[in-house]
Amino acid sequence: MNIILLGPPGAGKGTQAQRLVEKHGMRQLSTGDMLRAAVKAGTPTGLEAKAVMERGELVSDAIVSALIGDELDSMGAESGAIFDGYPRTEAQAESLDSILEARGRKLDHVIELDVNEDALVERITGRFTCASCGKGYHDTFEKPQVEGTCDKCGGHEFKRRPDDNAETVRTRMAEYRAKTAPILPVYEVRGIVSKVDGMADMDEVTAAIEAILAK
Ligand code: ADP
Ligand code: ADP
Ligand code: ZN
Repeated sequence: MNIILLGPPGAGKGTQAQRLVEKHGMRQLSTGDMLRAAVKAGTPTGLEAKAVMERGELVSDAIVSALIGDELDSMGAESGAIFDGYPRTEAQAESLDSILEARGRKLDHVIELDVNEDALVERITGRFTCASCGKGYHDTFEKPQVEGTCDKCGGHEFKRRPDDNAETVRTRMAEYRAKTAPILPVYEVRGIVSKVDGMADMDEVTAAIEAILAK
């Protein structure tokens, strides 16, 4: 099974992808995570991407499509893929078709997380993750059960993203509206898009996604 989670920054793509990974052993392919790893490692890709990401603009299609291809090649053919934050442009959507075809995979579902934009700034500015295992949290909506301790790995260090600030979020939303939302019709004509209410509780969103995957 290969699926795309589509939605603006803060819609809940990463949160839901992590849950699918735990439950179904699928693999999460997050271009944002891959790019942040490249920035941290100081690779040529990272050096090119850093300033673009800090501004909240999109990194070049060639860079992210190459990252996705490499990641798929490192996976077993039997593991399902969850594309999180990719594709984000029409060019990337076209690349994904060829990338999947070349590997004998096909796209089963595009799940659109439908959210009210006004809620996103609060979601983004309250977001943090465990520095050891990457589990996602929120200051209000998903706090660790024991303050300062990761529920999943027991780690005590957490981090916040430099681009998770109210100003950059506006640019990221504008990028989503202008470049990413227009790829939905491409998938709609194929009849593989399902819309989920991303404003519902996290567990309800998970249940709605599970129902789509079970179809
Ligand atoms: P969010 O899920 O909050 O939207 P991501 O972690 O997916 O954030 O992306 C963070 C940043 O990384 C984006 O603002 C963009 O600069 C870059 N990025 C991630 N994925 C892509 C992509 N598929 N195409 C272009 N840029 C990307
Ligand atoms: P994305 O990957 O789409 O950018 P995340 O999954 O990182 O979004 O979610 C952004 C923030 O909002 C996180 O801090 C997360 O804990 C929180 N969040 C995710 N889904 C929900 C939800 N349904 N209700 C409330 N908060 C949520
Ligand atoms: Zn952890």
